[in-house]
Amino acid sequence: MIDIRHVSKWYGTFKVLDDCTTHVDKGEVIVVCGPSGSGKSTLIKCVNGLEPFQQGEVTVDGIPVGDRRTNLPKLRARVGMVFQHFELFPHMRVIDNLAIGQTQVLKRGRDEARERALRLLDRVGLRDQADKYPGRLSGGQQQRVAIARALAMDPICMLFDEPTSALDPEMINEVLDVMVELATEGMTMMVVTHEMGFARRVAHRVVFMDKGQIVEDASKEEFFGSPRSERAQQFLSKIL
Ligand code: ATP
Ligand code: MG
Repeated sequence: MIDIRHVSKWYGTFKVLDDCTTHVDKGEVIVVCGPSGSGKSTLIKCVNGLEPFQQGEVTVDGIPVGDRRTNLPKLRARVGMVFQHFELFPHMRVIDNLAIGQTQVLKRGRDEARERALRLLDRVGLRDQADKYPGRLSGGQQQRVAIARALAMDPICMLFDEPTSALDPEMINEVLDVMVELATEGMTMMVVTHEMGFARRVAHRVVFMDKGQIVEDASKEEFFGSPRSERAQQFLSKIL
């Protein structure tokens, strides 16, 4: 589904991604972790073309992201992305946040879009918040709205960049629970997170990055059991 092959990227002379290769198969959940500045956000943004890269190849469902002939807005509409900061439209009610992409990009009718929005809000436990503005919701609620908004577009895969790291501790689980449910339903997911509990529960593989390189790409069992690299061992000993 997602194929990242020998991707390198520079900011000026600084090599932010160094020959990164990994893949996410359909229905797989990959957790990407590593120290701050190791290139995790940059890598995940290369997957939906939010960051250009100079070398290598990324394909999503066979579509080459780096090819200038690829219709990136169209591709992005099919790749759900959830960021650390929820980035909802603040001037729109929750329901309209979920409906707008459906009506404008997918050309669904208003009633169909609203119906789908309500079903998804129900699923993330927020149907009763549909008519509020995002600013009236807690961080955890806003992030669940952001996930529902991404799902409203019927994505073929979902990218998450530290979706819980801006949340108060008591709200982290309500967001992780939604993500765990998605994972168990078979959604293809690439998740940058330091929530190792989440990784243990649902990840198929864990990718560990350091200084722009993928240092480790291992099954969850291998990664938590006996990480090969010393850098991953050190990282784990600090966060577990
Ligand atoms: P964090 O855990 O803090 O989110 P990260 O692993 O997501 O870190 P990135 O945000 O991908 O790391 O950044 C990787 C490196 O690239 C960092 O050293 C960062 O300073 C640098 N970088 C990111 N964006 C730019 C930019 N626009 N111009 C120059 N350098 C950048
Ligand atoms: Mg980051």
